[in-house]
Amino acid sequence: MIIGIDLGTTFSAIAMVRDGLPVLIAHADERIMPSVVGLTAQGALVVGTPARNQYVFAPEQTIRSIKRQMGQETRVALGEQTYTPADISALILRELKRRIEAHVGQPVDRVVITVPAYFSDAARQATREAGELAGFVVERIINEPTAAALAYGLDQRAEQQLVAVYDLGGGTFDVSIIELDAGVIEVRASHGNTQLGGDDFDQRLAEYLAVGFEADHGVDPRSDIRAWARLLRAAEHAKIALSSQPFVQVREEYLVSQAGAPLHLDREISRAEFEGLIADLVEGTLESFDAALNDAGLNVEALDRIIFVGGSTRIPLVWQMVADHTGIEPETEINPDEAVALGAAIQAAIIAGEPLDTILVDVTPHSLGMEIANWEFGHLVPDCYSVIIPRNTTIPTTRSEVYSAITPDQTAIAIKIYQGEHPVASQNMLLGEFLIDHLRPEVAGQPPRVTVQFDFDINGILHVAAVDRGSGKECRISVKAAHAQLTPADIAHNRAALDALELEGGDDASAGAGPVNLEAQGLLARARRALINSQSDQTALAEAIATLEVALRHGDHDAIETNVESLIDLIYDLEDE
Ligand code: ADP
Ligand code: MG
Repeated sequence: MIIGIDLGTTFSAIAMVRDGLPVLIAHADERIMPSVVGLTAQGALVVGTPARNQYVFAPEQTIRSIKRQMGQETRVALGEQTYTPADISALILRELKRRIEAHVGQPVDRVVITVPAYFSDAARQATREAGELAGFVVERIINEPTAAALAYGLDQRAEQQLVAVYDLGGGTFDVSIIELDAGVIEVRASHGNTQLGGDDFDQRLAEYLAVGFEADHGVDPRSDIRAWARLLRAAEHAKIALSSQPFVQVREEYLVSQAGAPLHLDREISRAEFEGLIADLVEGTLESFDAALNDAGLNVEALDRIIFVGGSTRIPLVWQMVADHTGIEPETEINPDEAVALGAAIQAAIIAGEPLDTILVDVTPHSLGMEIANWEFGHLVPDCYSVIIPRNTTIPTTRSEVYSAITPDQTAIAIKIYQGEHPVASQNMLLGEFLIDHLRPEVAGQPPRVTVQFDFDINGILHVAAVDRGSGKECRISVKAAHAQLTPADIAHNRAALDALELEGGDDASAGAGPVNLEAQGLLARARRALINSQSDQTALAEAIATLEVALRHGDHDAIETNVESLIDLIYDLEDE
């Protein structure tokens, strides 16, 4: 038996092939383990989550991101001793070895370990040495983008392909252009930023929370190490929540005290606010993307696909910006923080000569959404379809969106749940419906708003919950929806076929709200509210809303962008009144 290990900068994972199928090996509730090593106050060695938790309180007793130093002639201090980067990585690998041995109930010695494509020979050598120090026979060191391509089964395709692997993790960003031809995988170019990742997003959000807190209470939580640690952790949780919902409530009781009185943090953050905080960082990854293409001597048109790797690619803005920039829908079906380990396990099985099936992923074969009414040319058009879970999303998944009632005195909203791709809701398959009533506006004089959450579980049951943001009242229903087990290749094939169909379909093209259009959808909701609340004549606004809706329905990116801008101007003018 040979296992695969993704030895990551912030998180590591183990996978193996069992009965021909690559599977990730979880330990207790953890699918991935923080790549952090620490010494407790009592002098005990800790690896993984306990070490990660103690970092902010005891940074001198904790080592993280050791991967950045692999291959360098340096020593890091931990307690009284100093260690090489390979020694520290060996401690992480040893813990992973212990976990997999506990899982399979026998010794496991042989391993394939992944490294970034840009790693130097010295860094590769240090990784090999770390594996040996941990007691492994290192069968092979392979590149992370190569492993990701293996997880997607790309080596099994006959035709030549050019693929970009976009990997945005916790502490690093890499993009590699790889070429596949008759099962041979070659990295043509690689680019990135070794100091950019999810940690920076947490930092930005924590700073933002701290500044707001200081403005409210006159105390800067950054000056208290304990408070800052809690803010960073709260920021990461909020960030993760915002990948699947439009708002998150950040609550930290007793964050700091002032003159003996406890001060609490309790504030709502919207996805749009968070996106504003990180947009420039994501923008920077696009420059690296172009640089990698350039190094490979390619235009974006030459690319066949983009695959997403790294936990931070779950952020919808990242998907949206890459899709907008390249015109290609990035593929995300295999869990982005697990794809590299799964690919390493596939490489291991190939070396061991084990029979191997392609990875199957559970996906939603159809989009799931609900009926809404839209403004068009100043008229309310019912029976529009708003997609909440786009087709080909890996399940289980949770997504939610906020919808506004039409008028301030509206007290009920009918939730009609559909499955399908047609922009006219009733042309899709009706899965169920319910009414949420006794709605109360959050702000007097504004229409009430309802958060609708879709939870699609692994058994193919869709749980839908609607919560009135004003009263907190909740209604829920569970319905059966289609789900399918497909290989990533099948999914790509289906997607291409559907895209072609939609192009032929002409006017009704690009059904519903893909993540690309979410910003525009959010803006539309705001514009509609402004329209309803305005006392004066708003013909220009009504027309701008209608034009943007048409652009969205036609999936015309340029028109969407221009119209979003003019709509923003109009709303600002109106809100300034
Ligand atoms: P590594 O950089 O070690 O390869 P990963 O690929 O596992 O690490 O990425 C870890 C990062 O992904 C962390 O910053 C984590 O907060 C972030 N992350 C994980 N899940 C989500 C999510 N749903 N939304 C946003 N960020 C996420
Ligand atoms: Mg990684």
